[in-house]
Amino acid sequence: MATAEGTRADEATDLLRHLIRNACVNDGADDSGDEVRSADLLLTYLEGCGADVETYEPHPGRKSLIARIEGSDPSAPSLLLMGHTDVVPANPDGWQRDPFAGELVDGVVWGRGAIDMLNLTATMATAFRHLALDGFRPAGGLTYLAVADEEALSRFGAGWLIEHEPDAVRHDYVITESGGFPMPGADGVTRLPVIVAEKGVYWPTLTVRGTPGHGSQPLRTDNALVKAAEIVRRVDEYRPEAQLHEAWRRFVGGMGFPPELAGPLLDPSRIDAFCDELPLLGLARQAHACTHTTIAPTMMEAGTKTNVIPDRVELQLDIRTLPGWDEADVRAMLDGILGDLARDVTVTFPHADPSTDSPIDTPLWDALQRVSRVFYPGARTVPFLTVGATDSRYLRALGGVCYGFGLHSPAVSFDEYSAMFHGIDERVDVESLRLSTELWTALAHDFLV
Ligand SMILES: [Zn+2]
Repeated sequence: MATAEGTRADEATDLLRHLIRNACVNDGADDSGDEVRSADLLLTYLEGCGADVETYEPHPGRKSLIARIEGSDPSAPSLLLMGHTDVVPANPDGWQRDPFAGELVDGVVWGRGAIDMLNLTATMATAFRHLALDGFRPAGGLTYLAVADEEALSRFGAGWLIEHEPDAVRHDYVITESGGFPMPGADGVTRLPVIVAEKGVYWPTLTVRGTPGHGSQPLRTDNALVKAAEIVRRVDEYRPEAQLHEAWRRFVGGMGFPPELAGPLLDPSRIDAFCDELPLLGLARQAHACTHTTIAPTMMEAGTKTNVIPDRVELQLDIRTLPGWDEADVRAMLDGILGDLARDVTVTFPHADPSTDSPIDTPLWDALQRVSRVFYPGARTVPFLTVGATDSRYLRALGGVCYGFGLHSPAVSFDEYSAMFHGIDERVDVESLRLSTELWTALAHDFLV
């Protein structure tokens, strides 16, 4: 790999292509992922750079790597750059290029993970390596973490680390995916979203009870499937109340939207009608999801035989909560939706992760604003609440301020960019890799010294 000054973008590009080819596909099974290949690649890459490097492997193949540049002042704030090494599966049908070949074509790297988030994992490693090689000795410590298992439940990654190695991963400030996509404002000023909050994820199972009987005599039977169908209808009909989180208010306020857009987006009594009527469906869904706890029926399992009235149905819901909601709030919402049917339903929560957020006005926020302007003159950072879940929730649980950020070139539109997450034709241009590599370097010099 090239190491000479001036070729760091090439080095990050090369590293990214290797990470894509390692194909650490995480399908949720304990033995999938096999992130050991990328952890070992990064171990080799960081060898001899002068940083302390450690690896953790809580399950065979599920390996994470931590590299540290010690700070000279234990009271100075520390910074963790965290990237995951696993990716979601990719079906090559529909892709223009092999999702696991890591091809570089006309300045663009193609493959699964190119933006989620091997691009950042690679650029963070490259910036970190060169800081260490250059003898960077900051006041506050700088840590690089390449973590496994982010795409499932992080049981072998961040979730395991905060439980078993909290001292290794606890930091005052953390940066991970995603954010930093340049959004042109109507006033010509570029906005760079910083992810400061993410919604909670609750996946309840509703077990609906009935009474078995013969399918040939359905009159006045107690059919669990009919009740479940009514529950699905009520869930679909349910209109959650709009709630405007500080991140949303400051995002809309900071974007410089014209009043006809900003007005309804900041008015809880108008936003529902606005989202219902907005012709831009993607934006409507996004705005709705950022301002409501949402609920979608997604799976149902019922019945044993065509001629048997079912006495049991299992219905799964995907609920995404706003900051401030807990399990009791979710239960209360479900009770309200179920109404008289609640007596025939048992609700359990096999998966429940509340929403998390970090304060917006922090020294790291200010540093990101300052440093971003080196690359996008005049640009303004704006807070953003993401509807997806990342490892931020684990690091926030240890008390760290956690943001999602990185830099991207304006070559790809926001719509294309959003569609590439877990989608087809995932790719990133080398210019974006250069920007992010330089961003991490500049941030370390600005924030930690
Ligand atoms: Zn990701």
